[in-house]
Amino acid sequence: MGKATGFLEIDRQDRKDLPAADRVRHYNEFIIPLDESSVKRQAARCMDCGVPYCHTGCPVNNQIPDWNDLVYRADWEEAARNLHSTNNFPEVTGRICPAPCEASCTLNLEDVPVTIKTIECAIADKALKEGWILPQPPASKTGKCVAVVGSGPAGLAAAQQLARAGHDVHVFEKNATPGGLLVYGIPDFKMEKDVIANRVAQMEAEGVTFHCNVHVGVDKKAAELERDHDAVLLTGGSEHPRDLPVEGRDLDGVHFAMEFLPQQNRRNSGEPLGEISPILADGRHVIVIGGGDTGSDCIGTSFRQGALSVTQLEILPKPPEKEDKEMVWPHWPLKLRTSSSQAEGADRDWSVMTTKITGKNGRASRLHCVRIDGDMKPVKGSEFDLRADLVLLAMGFVHPVREGMLDELGLEFDPRGNVKATVENYRTSRDGVFAAGDMRRGQSLVVWAIREGRQAAQAIDAFLMGTSQLPR
Ligand SMILES: Cc1cc2nc3c(=O)[nH]c(=O)nc-3n(C[C@H](O)[C@H](O)[C@H](O)COP(=O)(O)OP(=O)(O)OC[C@H]3O[C@@H](n4cnc5c(N)ncnc54)[C@H](O)[C@@H]3O)c2cc1C
Ligand code: SF4
Repeated sequence: MGKATGFLEIDRQDRKDLPAADRVRHYNEFIIPLDESSVKRQAARCMDCGVPYCHTGCPVNNQIPDWNDLVYRADWEEAARNLHSTNNFPEVTGRICPAPCEASCTLNLEDVPVTIKTIECAIADKALKEGWILPQPPASKTGKCVAVVGSGPAGLAAAQQLARAGHDVHVFEKNATPGGLLVYGIPDFKMEKDVIANRVAQMEAEGVTFHCNVHVGVDKKAAELERDHDAVLLTGGSEHPRDLPVEGRDLDGVHFAMEFLPQQNRRNSGEPLGEISPILADGRHVIVIGGGDTGSDCIGTSFRQGALSVTQLEILPKPPEKEDKEMVWPHWPLKLRTSSSQAEGADRDWSVMTTKITGKNGRASRLHCVRIDGDMKPVKGSEFDLRADLVLLAMGFVHPVREGMLDELGLEFDPRGNVKATVENYRTSRDGVFAAGDMRRGQSLVVWAIREGRQAAQAIDAFLMGTSQLPR
């Protein structure tokens, strides 16, 4: 353990954000890293608990107390090795994970958890800066060939693990650049895209081949992948968005979040938008419907584009300011959180249902709403309306897209409409075809996608070789 009395002597100190007025002028990351000695002091706060509850929260089983101790002792290189033994992309989770580990930390009983995410990010960034992140090509090849469809965090983690086990790995991606939602969904101000480009270069050096601009089931038959590979892993995400079936939905200016967000990421990277018409928030009153991560990303992007106002509406009631620790700890608490984008000046309202959208000359201009009670019933007389030049629908994703690849393969789905496969072996109803990430578990988090990618790689390795040395 680090410093035995560290948690008593040292206050929690975390990374700060650049002021909102400055950061909304650009699309770059705005979190100011702690200096190395402050990170060491924060790592010294870890109590190396007999039961490390932080492990309950972390889906990739990061060995948190171990690397906290290594950082406290300034053995950063060993800390980086330890961290990479459970997580392929800690510089990603160190930036954008909601950090369920911190909610589970014993010190969170007092609201001052160890700054686990900040320490993780510091280790990962230092490893990159010092040149410790090198390709790890396999010592020998197995002669087996695996196709991975989709290059989000699940597909990338699986591909990296499978290549390191000696398989020939081909990743097929319908977009122009690998990364999935890490590149096209999550805005650059939350994570700059060279983070992903570095990993893609590392994986190419490990023998992974990326085939971009290939939409499997559209440009290329899934049957061809089955014919040409010994196993196929589907990591195509959960891309079917939840819609808002109200009058006025088809007016100009009403869009899904994932029609809006990728455009800005493409502008930033210089990738052409192609035939699609630009969707922009500049000079507009923007309404974001949906209170989650995607909604927050729409807010931050709208402010950076020059929106006049941004209002976020949530159908669920306002959560409590503070959780009842004894009821929920060490599990993830439902409580009021304010994202950095919301803190940039969005108005927020809860228990609000949209009844219709109206407009002029085919363009949206007003959103009509009603307040709802605890039984989700409209409250009489509570109707109101808001200016709405741009309405962004960020109400989540219902299941993967079926048309194309999944229909062609004729796979079974679970009751929620995701591809049916268990976490024991990730096998779908079709022999030799596996599924992982949001395509299997439904809309989730990056850290869960990394876990599923790693576990699916182990299952595929065992399927191909009879046994596997890959970790689960
Ligand atoms: C806007 C937004 C912001 C988010 N922010 C966060 C966050 O801050 N933190 C967090 O932890 N989680 C966040 N999430 C959730 C997280 O991004 C996802 O849970 C995660 O990316 C899922 O990983 P995946 O690999 O399963 O799928 P995805 O990342 O969705 O990747 C799937 C890939 O498959 C490709 N594909 C699909 N079908 C085909 C096909 N037929 N042929 C070829 N390619 C195909 C897609 O183009 C895509 O690249 C966010 C989600 C969204 C939408
Ligand atoms: S729960 Fe918190 S204090 Fe305990 S080992 Fe984990 S990080 Fe350290």
